[in-house]
Amino acid sequence: MTFEELKALDHAYTMQTYGRFDVAVDHGKGATLWSLEGKELIDFTSGIGVCSIGYGNEQWAWSIYEQAMDLGHISNLFYSQPYAKLAETLCKRSGMEAVFFGNSGAEANEGLIKLARKYSYDKYGTGRSTILTLHNSFHGRTITTLTATGQDVFHQYFYPFMEGFRYADANDLDSIREQGGEDVCAVLLELVQGEGGVLPLDKEFVRELAAVCSERDWLLLVDEVQTGVGRTGSLFAFQQYGILPDAVSFAKGIAGGLPMGGFLVNEKCRSVLGPGSHGSTFGGNPISSAAALAVLDILDEETIAAVREKGAYLRQGIESLHKKSIGGTRGMGLMIGVEVKEGYTNKALAAQLVEHGLLVLTAGQGLRLLPPLTITKEEMDKGLKIMADVLE
Ligand SMILES: *Cc1c(COP(=O)(O)O)cnc(C)c1O
Repeated sequence: MTFEELKALDHAYTMQTYGRFDVAVDHGKGATLWSLEGKELIDFTSGIGVCSIGYGNEQWAWSIYEQAMDLGHISNLFYSQPYAKLAETLCKRSGMEAVFFGNSGAEANEGLIKLARKYSYDKYGTGRSTILTLHNSFHGRTITTLTATGQDVFHQYFYPFMEGFRYADANDLDSIREQGGEDVCAVLLELVQGEGGVLPLDKEFVRELAAVCSERDWLLLVDEVQTGVGRTGSLFAFQQYGILPDAVSFAKGIAGGLPMGGFLVNEKCRSVLGPGSHGSTFGGNPISSAAALAVLDILDEETIAAVREKGAYLRQGIESLHKKSIGGTRGMGLMIGVEVKEGYTNKALAAQLVEHGLLVLTAGQGLRLLPPLTITKEEMDKGLKIMADVLE
């Protein structure tokens, strides 16, 4: 099949809900991909932070194959080993106490919202169900997580949206206090706002916010769908912020490319959702769990520590380019935002980079880079070379 044939087939039979780049990806190894036509592409996207261990990893592929041959699915009404082993690994490495598995980021955040409301209902009764989120946040595309998302552009068309959310400014404790009140049960936030433009929250603000939460018994809910699983240079970003949240969602990178999400809770929250109050048909299915166990085995402490160095190396490389179109960088680990200067648009720059063999993402007004965490120096250098050629 040629690229033009594939494109025509896609347009003929799929809902065109995505603004796609003009390239079809065929296969990959490490952080290098090849297009349908055989062109080499350096990947600074990981499929939006999902392919945390890159492409074509044999340990990952074998774990999926072997689990599929043993037991592909068996509902959550029965015990199975991969589910329990993955839960243990996640709890031990995060310092959290218990986990619930679902299938996606939005679904994981829905779980956080249900958890907070039931925690509050059980303890205080009705009238305490509002959740504070931050302006410029992104929490998903279900009706409730769209409502939780603090950006007006997402609050269109799909009326009615949900009750029970208010928005405060990031890095502004006064704004949190203003929006707080007797009706609040939780605060939900990303520690590095991803879709909003790769904006890390101030550590001081986060620590003070955590204190306010514990003072008022608001649950501190951290959305680590994008920042989790090593992306920022620790298994979870909260581990670098010096806080222990009440609950943390994860998804994108957890199973290295298979669909999986979920949330971890602390001791206070582990019994809030009992039998019958929450569930998922596919959540934590044996194949995704086996894949996630392989991902966490590959992403050992040393590999995750190297993420910080790789991030610093890439940012330094980008900062040292002499270019008219891009400005400074920001972020944590291998979650990097690049400012796009006035007179240029991130969409056009990204399309140009992709055309020249470097896959990148956009976020807010800037470019967003989320390379596989296992990317090599050689691959980073190839990517930087393409950036230099295109942007100069
Ligand atoms: C991607 C993302 C989501 C949504 O995840 P899906 O798997 O697409 O539902 C939620 N929160 C954050 C921070 C994300 O980056």
